[in-house]
Amino acid sequence: MSRLKPCPLLIGGEWTTAMGVATTPVHNPSSGEVIAEAPCCGPAIVDQAVQAAAAAFPQWMETPPVERARILFRLKMLLEDRFEELALSVTTEHGKTLAEARGDVRRGLENIEFACGAPSLLMGESLENVARGIDCDTIRQPLGVVAGITPFNFPAMVPLWMWPLAIACGNTFVLKPSEKVPLTAIRIAEIAQQAGLPPGVLNVVHGGREAVDAILAHPLIRAISFVGSTPVAKYVHEKGTAHGKRVQAAGGAKNFVLVMPDADVGNTATGILEAAFGCAGERCMAGSTAVAIGRAAETVLPQLVDVVSKIRVGPADRDPDAQMGAVITREHRARVCELITTAASQGAQPLTDGRQTKVPSAPGGFYVGPTVLDHVRPEMVTMQEEVFGPVLNVVRMENLDAAIELANTSPYGNGAAIFTRSGRAAREFRHRVQAGMVGINIGVPAPMAFFPFSGWHASFFGDLHLQGRESVAFYTQQKVTTTRWFSSGEGTIWADR
Ligand code: NAD
Repeated sequence: MSRLKPCPLLIGGEWTTAMGVATTPVHNPSSGEVIAEAPCCGPAIVDQAVQAAAAAFPQWMETPPVERARILFRLKMLLEDRFEELALSVTTEHGKTLAEARGDVRRGLENIEFACGAPSLLMGESLENVARGIDCDTIRQPLGVVAGITPFNFPAMVPLWMWPLAIACGNTFVLKPSEKVPLTAIRIAEIAQQAGLPPGVLNVVHGGREAVDAILAHPLIRAISFVGSTPVAKYVHEKGTAHGKRVQAAGGAKNFVLVMPDADVGNTATGILEAAFGCAGERCMAGSTAVAIGRAAETVLPQLVDVVSKIRVGPADRDPDAQMGAVITREHRARVCELITTAASQGAQPLTDGRQTKVPSAPGGFYVGPTVLDHVRPEMVTMQEEVFGPVLNVVRMENLDAAIELANTSPYGNGAAIFTRSGRAAREFRHRVQAGMVGINIGVPAPMAFFPFSGWHASFFGDLHLQGRESVAFYTQQKVTTTRWFSSGEGTIWADR
């Protein structure tokens, strides 16, 4: 039995411990050590958090947007002061390198910066004289209690996609971070309290399916933001909407990177390397399939294999030179290795093979080395499933048409990229590809905070995406007022016209 105390819950401004519930271990993937225990909260604890959020809502809703924004400005400054500590927290519970962890925190901070614009973002529209003497205007009001359920792969950024904007819009929030990486979310919530966030505006619970089911069914929750794998995103969307809630649910992905024969060899190799192996491939925007068109395989592939074979895999929490860290769990490591084995047995050719990668300084860590599989065909397992690890499929195609057709057979539709020197090819690709986020000579076209994170098909369930103005619309309801004032009985203070 673990001697670690379970991660605390934040309910109504108080940090408490969930008593009498099971826990799941939180690992440091770099070493394999257990560093914390996440309590598996059920309906009773979720209800306490929702009740606290509901109690805080009336006063928070009446707090002027500019005052809400001031708290977020303070939060942003405090987080900047503790930037390195937060990055290390991300690295420790996730296993990604410190540079990647800094990116995770930075992208999250940009979402707070966007939310600081609440007074402008919440402005409505108006039109005088929609009919003679009649005016019409809109205002945006908060929904009430909103919940957020997040995945393991961006411990800082994904929770920050959600709650800062939701509360800037006047809602109160219940966050359930991934049970695999609860620590950074807790730390940021503590800092939010120091920034002056009133009790109950942000609440944090932990756990897995039981906590999620309690959120989906709770009658006081008006909306749910979800980010995670496609089967769970679909489930959350179906169940949440069946319970009458608004749901935005971002799911998994399989992103294609097309390489035209005219692409700049050096920049393309680097772009694919970063897209496929950044964060050990554990990104919903990972470029996990490169489609080499025509002669591109002969020009780009040798250079790519050369740089990939030099990637230094290591314990990100203590080796500043590590270029790729561990994957999230021992089980996930085993699954990724098994998918490589199956692909190889189906005829894929490993040009680099990460299954046997060992890191002597961290023998207990969950490492898979960067793996490039050549001659992959659409029916192979690594093309059919989201691997979510450091594995790049290389598919060879005759021409751009065939490559776009292949990309469009995917059930997902998150990102897609093309490397080329041809504006015409890039335009054709952008126009025809069935994905919501497109990169042109950019391997990971993840939009910044002020643009929507715009997945399509099985990568997103709902109408309004996370981030940007779409999320402002998601977290608010509009009221349209039509006004007429009668002139009768106002006597002499008006001069007749
Ligand atoms: P996951 O679906 O396993 O977990 C996500 C959340 O759902 C967690 O909070 C978890 O506790 C909960 N959950 C897990 N299983 C559940 C179940 N059966 N019922 C109810 N709730 C459940 O995802 P993950 O492994 O943590 O994250 C990786 C996935 O997230 C990948 O598929 C990745 O592509 C996706 N992702 C998508 C985006 C995007 O914007 N589209 C961004 C980041 C990650």
